[in-house]
Amino acid sequence: MKISKTVFVDVLVGIVLGAVFLGLFYYSDYVSSFFDDDNNTEDNSFVLSDSYVPDSKYGYDVSNFYFEYDKVKSNQFLGSILYWEGVSFSTIDKLVKVSKDVFDVKMIRPGRNMAFVRSDSCGALHSFVYEPNNMKYIIFNLFDSIYVKEVIRPVETKIEYAYGTVSSSLWNSMKNNNLNISLIDKMEDALSSEVDFYSAQKGDKYKLIFERKYIDGNPVAIGKLIGAYYDNGQPHYAVHYESDLYSGYYNYEGAATKKAFLKAPVRFSRISSGFSYRRYHPIQHRIKAHYGTDYAAPYGTPIQAVAAGTIVRKGYGVNNGRYVTIKHDKTYTTTYLHMQRFGKFKKGMHVNQGDVIGYVGSTGLATGPHVCFRMKKNGRPIDHRRENFPSPEPLPDSLLTDYYVVRDSVVSILNSMNQVSSDSEPLVLKNLEVEK
Ligand SMILES: [Zn+2]
Repeated sequence: MKISKTVFVDVLVGIVLGAVFLGLFYYSDYVSSFFDDDNNTEDNSFVLSDSYVPDSKYGYDVSNFYFEYDKVKSNQFLGSILYWEGVSFSTIDKLVKVSKDVFDVKMIRPGRNMAFVRSDSCGALHSFVYEPNNMKYIIFNLFDSIYVKEVIRPVETKIEYAYGTVSSSLWNSMKNNNLNISLIDKMEDALSSEVDFYSAQKGDKYKLIFERKYIDGNPVAIGKLIGAYYDNGQPHYAVHYESDLYSGYYNYEGAATKKAFLKAPVRFSRISSGFSYRRYHPIQHRIKAHYGTDYAAPYGTPIQAVAAGTIVRKGYGVNNGRYVTIKHDKTYTTTYLHMQRFGKFKKGMHVNQGDVIGYVGSTGLATGPHVCFRMKKNGRPIDHRRENFPSPEPLPDSLLTDYYVVRDSVVSILNSMNQVSSDSEPLVLKNLEVEK
């Protein structure tokens, strides 16, 4: 009796421990799925919902079908792929004909996912599936009748949270490629008129509410940033608000938090040389004024128009290399030097804020890859980092009451994240790092 009781307790403890370990394993496995993001990045975000367990693949019940996955190799075409799977020439020919209105089989590209679906591992091919991209797949059905159909995958949007403390520089983390760039990008953008991220300090705190898009349970992209909080000694809020007339980010009072001018033409860069009226030129070896700010970034990093405007110059100079000048309004122009190559915009074309006008290079007189960014105000060179730009329009009084309702719900979630942080520490995987 005594023995069997001990055995019973042992088994019970075993079951409980097993369940706990299984739970932990399952949890860590689920959390690690965030590391398979489109950017191969990680952050300390978490989602408060159940894990996804697929019961069908490409619309086929996984318990009734056998799947073989592969990637298209170079010089593989629909004909050759199916021929080696034992499909007859006449069937391939029919498939190509019926696919005409659905999908051009000449568009099958090396490296893309494909799958062979059978009713059992050695049965005849039931269908061939090709994925032109992550958002859709094409089914070439061979069983019973021959048909081709395109299936757009349903995108699931989940609301997620991220928070943490600035611990190192964004520059370092970019090199390590371990943070979710698009999320930081959106935060910087949303708070651009409130926070100077170039003077972010160790210990600054941030909290974010954002959407993440999922396909088949796998994260594929960051969606809209819904709310952001940044504390650099002073609390700053950016809340996304949409009405029939206005859409954008607003602070606690309802003033726009997104600047008419971006702080810098390249994201995640570091300032390698600031604006000055006197500096020692590293190549010309003489004291020279530097009417610009140099942002060092890897070759090929996109260069963005800091504000909407018209491209008034696009050319090549011995010193400037490939460069573009944008006229923003009566007052301001900006110039971007040493580009490796240009963006798709031609001289005379209108660009929006954030449009890619070129890529970082070292053409002209440059020691390494960087953008020399120059701003003129009424024709005179100015230090854009010291300029107080006119702030964007605040929300009209008629919308403020409505905005405050949205703001209060977003702010209350942002504020409650403190409790989540202290109560469930393990949820924070890694601090998001922001440029110092
Ligand atoms: Zn420069």
